[in-house]
Amino acid sequence: MGKSSKDKRDAYYRLAKEQGWRARSAFKLLQLDEEFNLFEDVSRVVDLCAAPGSWSQVLSRVLIKGERVGRNGWEDRRYADGLARKSGEESVLEAGLSSTPNGEEKTAIRHPRKDVKIVAIDLQPMSPLEGITCLKADITHPSTIPLLLKALDPDYAASASSTSSSIAASQTVDLVISDGAPDVTGLHDLDIYVQSQLLWAALNLALCVLKPGGKFVAKIFRGRDVDILYAQLKVVFEHVTVAKPRSSRASSVEAFIVCTNFQPPAGFKASLENPLGAGRKLDINTITTDLDQATQKREDGIIELDVGPETNEPSSTDIRWIAPFLACGDLSSFDADASHKLPDDHVSLDPVQPPTAPPYRRALEERRKMGGAYGKTKLGVTALPVAG
Ligand code: SAM
Repeated sequence: MGKSSKDKRDAYYRLAKEQGWRARSAFKLLQLDEEFNLFEDVSRVVDLCAAPGSWSQVLSRVLIKGERVGRNGWEDRRYADGLARKSGEESVLEAGLSSTPNGEEKTAIRHPRKDVKIVAIDLQPMSPLEGITCLKADITHPSTIPLLLKALDPDYAASASSTSSSIAASQTVDLVISDGAPDVTGLHDLDIYVQSQLLWAALNLALCVLKPGGKFVAKIFRGRDVDILYAQLKVVFEHVTVAKPRSSRASSVEAFIVCTNFQPPAGFKASLENPLGAGRKLDINTITTDLDQATQKREDGIIELDVGPETNEPSSTDIRWIAPFLACGDLSSFDADASHKLPDDHVSLDPVQPPTAPPYRRALEERRKMGGAYGKTKLGVTALPVAG
């Protein structure tokens, strides 16, 4: 499918290029922020599975540059207006003034935040972004946690590794976001399984760095037994909601869990050696959520949380909870599943940030070496030369 037909098929893909976003995913985060006010009082953020970096771009514009970017990507007059009113000033944009009544510049509606720290992690290398610390690492590997702790706090002693006490001292992050997605195989159950592994990895990293009151947002594929996941999240977060931004295709199982007010039960220690999702237990005596009544409390005050994605058949101790579901974004805006007519003079733009290390690079190199010629198999399938 050529660039131009993709522009037609996917309005958010086209808009992303027009507005300078590295990926169309930027709109998902903007639409989630609009609904949940994700960035309010936030200055320390970890962006997991961040490449090519459109979510980090959003963070950079909102937190570092202090812009309020609307759900459809442009700087939003309503936000500017709201901010001005909140601070008791006339809307400087609506009034067309070059300065506010108290003499501040018009750009005073921008609020760059103090002490902003943003760390982005991905398996793929990521082109640099101003103000963002980029790490190339696997979020499912325990060695990533010391890297992350060091990036968050340069004084962090790497020798302390990921012991519970050093982790506790690092719980300073306001928001952890994860847009992790595996390379989709098309085998539905396998894709959902791998996606859930990424989600557990993201959650365990979040539990290591989030401060009480912190927020966690992550992509999920809504498969069978997802309500067990919601129940477990509800143990450590006060509010858990499933959200579907307008820019996420309605035809896809993708959605985002938005968890706010991180409230770890007393005595809870985050650990990547003994992570949640694989037999980790929490002390129920200190759990103060609604789940108290619903959980199977054992005599020793322990509840089983070993209902991770590898459990095929839920056991009788599985706790299920239906999270509220919210569609967010402007429902009268572009439909991510629709085809849009483009004007005759439409010029298709190049992507803002071509992939730095795409998996298909080797195939292209091999083809170039062969002068563009491909071998055809008997079945008519194009065969790549096998590396020696
Ligand atoms: N949020 C990104 C943005 O706005 O540009 C898009 C993320 S993309 C949908 C999913 C990313 O997950 C890919 O870049 C992929 O490399 C990353 N990923 C998948 N598995 C990972 C892992 N185990 N550790 C780190 N990153 C991973």
